[in-house]
Amino acid sequence: MKRIRYLTALVVMSMLIGSKQGYAQSGDKELQRFREIYKELVETNTTLSAGDCTLAAKRMAVRLKTVGYPDADLRVFIPDGHPKEGGLLAVLHGSDPKAKAVLLLGHLDVVEAKREDWTRDPFTMIEENGYFYGRGTIDMKAHVAVWIDNLIRFRKEGFKPKRSIKLALTCGEEANGALNGAGWLATHEREAIDAEFALNEGGGAYWIRKAAESGLEFWLRKKYHRTLCSR
Ligand SMILES: [Zn+2]
Repeated sequence: MKRIRYLTALVVMSMLIGSKQGYAQSGDKELQRFREIYKELVETNTTLSAGDCTLAAKRMAVRLKTVGYPDADLRVFIPDGHPKEGGLLAVLHGSDPKAKAVLLLGHLDVVEAKREDWTRDPFTMIEENGYFYGRGTIDMKAHVAVWIDNLIRFRKEGFKPKRSIKLALTCGEEANGALNGAGWLATHEREAIDAEFALNEGGGAYWIRKAAESGLEFWLRKKYHRTLCSR
C-alpha cells in the first residue's frame, strides 16, 4: 500500500515538473500536452490478449515526428512473428560523440484488465478527486509519457545534451510467455540501445520514496543537470 502511495506521488510529482502549479489549476500548454500523451497511452489497449503495443509505439512516433524528430532518428520495430508486440526506438543526438548515451527504457504493455473486474473502464483514463484511474496509469504509462514529453520538450527548446538520449519503448514486460521486447533489442538491436547507463522503472520503493520525500522536481532536475546537461 505504501508503495502505491509513493508511486502515486511519483506520477503526480512528475506531472508537476516544469510548473509550480498543479495541473488542475493550470492552463499550461505543456501540462496539457503531457496529459494528452498520458491519456493516449492509457487508452491504447496494450494487453497481450487484445492489445497492440505496435499501435502505441506508432502513436508515440507520430508525436515525436510532429515536433521535428527526423525519420532517421525514429524507428518502430516489429519482431518477426509478433506484429502487435512492437516498440519504438528514438534518439536525440548529443553534442559529444565520445560520450556514451543515456537510455530511457520503458515498457508499453500492461497487465490484462477485464471490464467486469473494474469499477470504471480500464481503457478510459478517468480523473477523479486528484487520482487517475485506468490500466497502466502507473505501471508504466505515466513514466513512458514523461519520457515522450521530455523528448518533445528537448526538441522544441533546441536542447542539445552532451550525451545522446536514446529511447526504447518495448512490449512483453507484463505477460508470461510474451516476447520480451527489451531482451529482443539486446539481441537484435544492441547498437540502438547501447548506453553508458539506463533509466527505467523499478529500482525498488526506496528510491521512489526518496524521490517523493525530497521533492521529485528537485531530484529530477539535479539528476538531469548532472547527467544530461554537463558539457
Ligand atoms: Zn512495469
